[in-house]
Amino acid sequence: MGINKNQLLDPYGRAISYLRVSVTDRCNYRCLYCMSENMTFLPKSDLLTLEELERLCIAFISRGVDKIRLTGGEPLVRRNIMNLIKSLGSFIKTGMLNELTLTTNGSLLEKYAEQLVENGIRRVNVSLDSLVREKFTKITRWGTLEEVMSGLSEAKRVGLKIKINTVALKGFNEDEFDSLISWCGEQGFDLTFIETMPMGEIEQNRVDQYMPLTLVRENIEKNWKLDEISYRTGGPARYVKVRETGQRLGFITPLSHNFCEDCNRVRITCTGQLYMCLGQDDRADLRTPLRKDSSNISVLSAIDEAIGRKPKGHDFIIERGVSKPAVERHMSVTGG
Ligand code: SAM
Ligand code: SF4
Repeated sequence: MGINKNQLLDPYGRAISYLRVSVTDRCNYRCLYCMSENMTFLPKSDLLTLEELERLCIAFISRGVDKIRLTGGEPLVRRNIMNLIKSLGSFIKTGMLNELTLTTNGSLLEKYAEQLVENGIRRVNVSLDSLVREKFTKITRWGTLEEVMSGLSEAKRVGLKIKINTVALKGFNEDEFDSLISWCGEQGFDLTFIETMPMGEIEQNRVDQYMPLTLVRENIEKNWKLDEISYRTGGPARYVKVRETGQRLGFITPLSHNFCEDCNRVRITCTGQLYMCLGQDDRADLRTPLRKDSSNISVLSAIDEAIGRKPKGHDFIIERGVSKPAVERHMSVTGG
């Protein structure tokens, strides 16, 4: 859809067309860089119901959002999530939404991939940080590589397009970047490397994990030809094509670069908090206006007010001597 007069625009003239919805902060994994072992999750009574999440999504769609990504925590562990996917999928059929998609750890794809396709999902992002069984379990604490591999092959079988997300972690998977690129090439998957972001307290020191993607790219270029392409998603990712495999390779570098100028997205949490920027703590409560009246008038004006304070850019910083995370919440609250 093109810009319409109802289109949400922020103070810098950026059209907000992309909504990421964290449908739960819970997860069946405990990735070392994402969560601590003993997480305190939000009380279930604070959660929006699936119907309320749907109302919020519809409010955004009515203001020109044409792409929605469901994320989490692990979106597929939310009970009856397929009901929400089905109702949002109907907006794909009417053309109000261009894309409905999902970021998942892949562990439940074997069970759900077919239903995802039936309900209008065409592409999924699957997070995978290692192709070595023991390392996979080490990084996810509670996961097995086998379940994700079964999920991926079912997703392929039913025709989902797949992009693998890999967090680049110093001393953990830097020896696997080449094998990930060739494996994704064989499988027909795109691949994106992500820098660790300083979100929420975890047991480890993030400075020890942080690996700048400029370095990752330099190492990759010793073995692969990377061709520049113009593909952009309005996010902090830049893509190249790997000449040898023909697949896209992305680099998400929120720390070593700042790509806020073409940011088209906002995020809502499972309790109805709207975050205008991944890298800042400012948020707007949409649950109260959502529950105040059923007509969406209050929630639409709360959305307008919040978008009016979307910041120009984020303040991420990872430095020795800075011991507190840049933002207090974990990634699983807003889903990245
Ligand atoms: N559970 C799903 C998954 O793992 O794909 C969706 C939610 S997860 C929070 C979304 C993405 O954020 C994953 O690719 C994960 O690797 C990434 N992530 C989590 N914590 C991060 C952090 N502190 N820095 C960078 N990426 C992070
Ligand atoms: Fe769960 Fe995803 Fe966070 Fe891993 S990265 S703990 S799978 S939410």
